[in-house]
Amino acid sequence: MVVGAGAGGCVAAACLFDAGYEVHLFEAGEASAANTSTHLAVSTSRTDLLDPGVFASTYTGGPRYPYLRGRARGGTTAINALVQMSGTKDDWDSWSTVHGCAGWNWRSVSAAIASLDFPSHFASPAQTGPLTGAVLAAARGMGAGECRHVGETYDGAGPVALSLRRGRRADVFSVFITPRVLQDAARMVVHAGRMVAEIAVEADRARGVVVDDEEFVADGVVLAAGTVWSPILLRRSGVSRAGIGRNLKDHPAISLWLRLRDGVGATADTLDVTGLVVASSLDDSDINLLPVEPDQLVVAVTKVSSVGHVAEVDGNAEVVLGTIETHDDATRMLAALRLAADLCATKEFGDVVESVSIDASGTPLDALLAHDDDTIISYVRRVPGAYSHAVGTCRMGVERDSEAVVDNTGAVFGVDDLWVADASVFPDIPRAATQLPVMAVAGRIASGVAERLR
Ligand SMILES: Cc1cc2nc3c(=O)[nH]c(=O)nc-3n(C[C@H](O)[C@H](O)[C@H](O)COP(=O)(O)OP(=O)(O)OC[C@H]3O[C@@H](n4cnc5c(N)ncnc54)[C@H](O)[C@@H]3O)c2cc1C
Repeated sequence: MVVGAGAGGCVAAACLFDAGYEVHLFEAGEASAANTSTHLAVSTSRTDLLDPGVFASTYTGGPRYPYLRGRARGGTTAINALVQMSGTKDDWDSWSTVHGCAGWNWRSVSAAIASLDFPSHFASPAQTGPLTGAVLAAARGMGAGECRHVGETYDGAGPVALSLRRGRRADVFSVFITPRVLQDAARMVVHAGRMVAEIAVEADRARGVVVDDEEFVADGVVLAAGTVWSPILLRRSGVSRAGIGRNLKDHPAISLWLRLRDGVGATADTLDVTGLVVASSLDDSDINLLPVEPDQLVVAVTKVSSVGHVAEVDGNAEVVLGTIETHDDATRMLAALRLAADLCATKEFGDVVESVSIDASGTPLDALLAHDDDTIISYVRRVPGAYSHAVGTCRMGVERDSEAVVDNTGAVFGVDDLWVADASVFPDIPRAATQLPVMAVAGRIASGVAERLR
């Protein structure tokens, strides 16, 4: 049984099906992303694809707002921004060298990403908007090298691949599950619109899942309900590792609003994202500037030391983000914002963009940067995240580390026949958007599950 049909769950279910098992995939959402717009703003306004029960605030308090998650066939890949990145070699090598997760490194994970064979598309010249050319020219003038963001992440500026197939959103459910249901519906059984209440655990062994007071019995359970819900389901099921729900990391970010000059505009076909990956004074590749056509510039920090947590309160998931709690994260965010301001001040950018604001009421970026560092950071902390890649709440590690929840095979410490295969197992956040990384991790975990159950 697989719980959750998102990036991790769909890959895990497909892998177990291919290994010959009968797979039951439970998904709380009913809706499908098929025919969903490729544009983030449109897909995230489709409330039938969104999870209404997840909220976030930062550790300093402040506003509580809906924390975007997909609840649909395809999970968050039904609503996400389609950007494909893999992370740096260091990100992955640190799984074994820092966190003791034997077998996890850039070589094993990049091979797993390649073996996914997931649809990937670079915008054609006809789909490329005016912002892209301006940003690339400006970035070259500022000394950024050239790169296509495919494979290992490193510093440079260039186009980003998107999860598109024949011009439409390629969500994980359509790519991995639909064809297998068509192949053998008796062996790939989808229970959509079925919310798993808990994992049935007896004598330290997972026996199946409980849905609407009904128990479904299984040889093994793979939990893939995502960073927010997987830890909550483990707690509800009586699992008691100290790290459950803790160690949540997300990329702090702010989205800038661009007002284009008269006559400069995207066409209906425009569909491209450019990536400008830059090093701060602290680390390589820890700043992402992502111009998203037609009129957004996402400014994000991708190496993160601040942590948050998640817990269930009155049936909702309440996320408390550690956004820019540490001095290092503040240093990176300030560097990212000043770099964005430098980019926006170039002639190439100015030829296309008339003004750059931090909010809908048109407050200029320069006005924010005129404040002292503390004021700037406390402003950014209050803005709902624009680069949502939460990981870490059931993190992988060694058994003597009480913060670790699963071992290097994804198996939950202390409970047999129960694995976690989603973003929650990441011991640290990669310097990348997380869909491809989550899929690769889930594929590797599910291959091990297939062997173990034999
Ligand atoms: C707004 C936004 C934009 C993003 N853009 C990008 C991007 O452009 N590129 C990128 O690489 N990444 C992006 N991401 C991140 C990426 O989509 C996630 O990292 C990835 O989908 C996480 O996979 P997952 O399997 O852990 O969880 P999810 O994909 O969220 O899947 C979890 C699934 O479990 C289901 N579930 C939860 N609880 C239960 C239950 N009790 N019973 C049954 N089912 C349950 C949920 O409904 C959901 O379908 C974005 C994320 C957000 C929020």
